[in-house]
Amino acid sequence: MAFEGLADRLQSTIKKMTGKGKVSEQDVKVMAREVRLALLEADVNFKVVKEFVNNIRTRAVGAEVMESLTPGQQVIKIVKEELTALMGGEQSKIAVADRPPTVIMMVGLQGAGKTTTTGKLANLLRKKHNRKPLLVAADVYRPAAVDQLKTVGKQLNIPVFEKGTDANPVEIANEAIQYAKEEHLDYVIIDTAGRLHIDTDLMDELYQIKQNLSPDEIFLVVDSMTGQDAVNVAENFNEQLDITGVILTKLDGDTRGGAALSIKSVTNKPIKFIGMGEKLDQLEDFHPDRMASRILG
Ligand code: GDP
Repeated sequence: MAFEGLADRLQSTIKKMTGKGKVSEQDVKVMAREVRLALLEADVNFKVVKEFVNNIRTRAVGAEVMESLTPGQQVIKIVKEELTALMGGEQSKIAVADRPPTVIMMVGLQGAGKTTTTGKLANLLRKKHNRKPLLVAADVYRPAAVDQLKTVGKQLNIPVFEKGTDANPVEIANEAIQYAKEEHLDYVIIDTAGRLHIDTDLMDELYQIKQNLSPDEIFLVVDSMTGQDAVNVAENFNEQLDITGVILTKLDGDTRGGAALSIKSVTNKPIKFIGMGEKLDQLEDFHPDRMASRILG
């Protein structure tokens, strides 16, 4: 299960604080050290850890313990609130354009789950929000990518706009938006090219698409299993494209959780959705408070 190590360590640390009355300074010192180690082990960015532990320490020292709570429970409450804040606080909603269609650009490195997530997002918008999406195949370098999106569209019975691999991605996307207007479709979700690594050509191309389309959302798809790398990738894409949100995939795996805990504070962009499996209905809204509860049991 994701976050297992972190969850175990935080829970056992806090369980040790069983005394009554005020949270003692000694308690806080021990707890802060353990929380710090637990977060570093979970591959959370070290700057994020430092700030997080400082916040907890400040809040926990001398915190008046509510009568109904033991000091341990009081500290759990503080840690839970801080974890929630760290992951973005409120749940972040998806944009809706004043005039349809809402245009979403999906970006990310190859293998992160971009194409699968493009389909999942269309499925979620249709099922949960009652919207009519259009998928757009704008990865013109790999015929396999176009085919993969077509297969996803067929599985979901959602239309896919494609022009093979000869057209230019900006043209494809513009035509797709026009098509969506004619067909009264309200979300256009563009699957852009991915690469194994970040390179200038890729970023230039994505930037061109962004400049030409002014999308309502730019979602970066990152693989939560890659930990610190996911955070670096997010930082890089955000610098170049000013993304609007992150979709974290593979949270069903045994990720240590560092990406989920670091991305918001490193990029200042919210995690909007999480991928919880390979199936096309396994995309969920991301709720920072629920994730914090899951980690703390
Ligand atoms: P792309 O290269 O970024 O377009 O990646 P794909 O969409 O082809 O996905 C790469 C692999 O990751 C595929 O085997 C997907 O089934 C898998 N995948 C995507 N999202 C998830 C997820 O949330 N959980 C799991 N377990 N696998 C996922």
